[in-house]
Amino acid sequence: PVDTRHWIGGERIASAATSATASASTATSAATATFTDHSPIDGTPLAEIARGGADEARAAVGAARDAFPGWAATPPGERARLLHAVADGVEARIEDLAVVETADNGALLRSHRRGVMPRVVHNLRHFADRLLALAHDDFETRGHTNHVSWDPAGPAVLITPWNAPLMLASWKIAPALAAGNTVVLKPAEWTPLTASLFADIAHEAGLPAGVLNVVQGYGAEVGEALVADPDVRRISFTGSVPTARRIAATAGAHLVPCSFELGGKSPLLVFADADPQLAADLAVEQFDNAGQVCLAATRILVEESVRDVFLGHVLDRVAKLTQGDPRDEATDVGPNIHPRHVERVDGFVRRALDAGAKAVTGGGRNTELTERGGNYYLPTLLTDVAQDSEIVQEEVFGPVLTLQTFPDGDEDEAVRLANDTRFGLAATLATGDRERAARVGARLVAGTVWVNCFFVRDLSAPFGGSRASGIGREGGDWSFDFYCDLKNTVTAP
Ligand code: NAD
Repeated sequence: PVDTRHWIGGERIASAATSATASASTATSAATATFTDHSPIDGTPLAEIARGGADEARAAVGAARDAFPGWAATPPGERARLLHAVADGVEARIEDLAVVETADNGALLRSHRRGVMPRVVHNLRHFADRLLALAHDDFETRGHTNHVSWDPAGPAVLITPWNAPLMLASWKIAPALAAGNTVVLKPAEWTPLTASLFADIAHEAGLPAGVLNVVQGYGAEVGEALVADPDVRRISFTGSVPTARRIAATAGAHLVPCSFELGGKSPLLVFADADPQLAADLAVEQFDNAGQVCLAATRILVEESVRDVFLGHVLDRVAKLTQGDPRDEATDVGPNIHPRHVERVDGFVRRALDAGAKAVTGGGRNTELTERGGNYYLPTLLTDVAQDSEIVQEEVFGPVLTLQTFPDGDEDEAVRLANDTRFGLAATLATGDRERAARVGARLVAGTVWVNCFFVRDLSAPFGGSRASGIGREGGDWSFDFYCDLKNTVTAP
């Protein structure tokens, strides 16, 4: 069981305005209702979730504002100790968190157990340790001492999506709290559960009241109210481009700095000198999490002469993928998040097929699994797509890849195609030639370039997107840069 009320100022809040226990029949106005959270695995209702509005947003930001002076003044060593205690609490409950997250967002249970939840622990520990190693070097100018300090900015609003709910939340919570800020987290309405569990874990670990607050609800309701609150000093958002635009407009009015991790349409460039097995593995990896990965290399660009061999290897592998219940160890591809999302994914594919694309595999829902109530879309690979078509230019966020070719030996054309979208999140290269990798990688517009690998991420590295894929970088000291107001104190000799 998960307590799905808001967590504000160290208390579970079923305020007069919002009651998680209110029956659906009382769901008459936005701020007085609950909403039902369903599992993408089979449509089962999982929980009634508190549906926050302006009152809860105000209360949560108020709690964060009141707790801020005390938390900011807490010595770094003590903040780091508490973050490690929260990490210990998460580590002790990896199994619970993994099971709940899989029920809620449909990603593979084995990934949650062995990869994602351990990563949450790692996020917390990394930023706790990093806080203690932040550079505080003094330097001199004409006998005067410059002392640079990392002052926490104040209450931070963190808004996260549904594709990796707790992992992405902890990637923001850890540096924000380490730096001495207080936090209001709003998880996505389709995946509210692990954020609530995390609030319990943080409380049990001894995090003071008001330092971490969690409000539940819809983006257009409590999300907008949080962003508009005048006491907020930072907004960190991971999600879609249209939402980022709305948040930026509101934050702009208050001059509040925003960090945006947004969508992508990243390329996988396969050169003729690549290891064909590795290149095919990299392509099929893009179906992980049913394609709901911002970094996914969904546009395959392959050198003409190896196209057929490469495609053959890819199709062999796709034929061996098992789609099904994400709780089964044998499953490789689970469901997509929501029936509405599958509808959207299918719309992209239908329009592409209407425009002349060919589905060499997939191309529609998995009818058998869909009949059992889940949101399953077949791993899909489309050929015969035009560079300026919607399917090549827009993020689908489902298990849908496109395949295009570039002329043999024409690196310029490969780079041109790779860079020719409005995004710039990541790029993956498969090549046996390191010099080519360096040459091509340097010309790609992307926050991360992977050479003969994918999804290898060190938390010390900068992470983020260029162009419409985001603003700013998280990771390493870049996270502290964002959550702090750096101050230079100059002292005369
Ligand atoms: P979304 O923008 O619809 O929602 C994200 C979050 O924003 C949710 O919590 C939602 O409730 C909230 N929100 C919605 N409208 C809001 C508003 N007006 N004001 C404040 N908050 C609001 O995105 P999504 O569909 O949940 O997530 C998928 C998107 O996220 C994809 O584009 C994907 O690429 C992107 N993503 C990016 C990264 C990255 O690191 N770059 C990681 C994961 C996902």
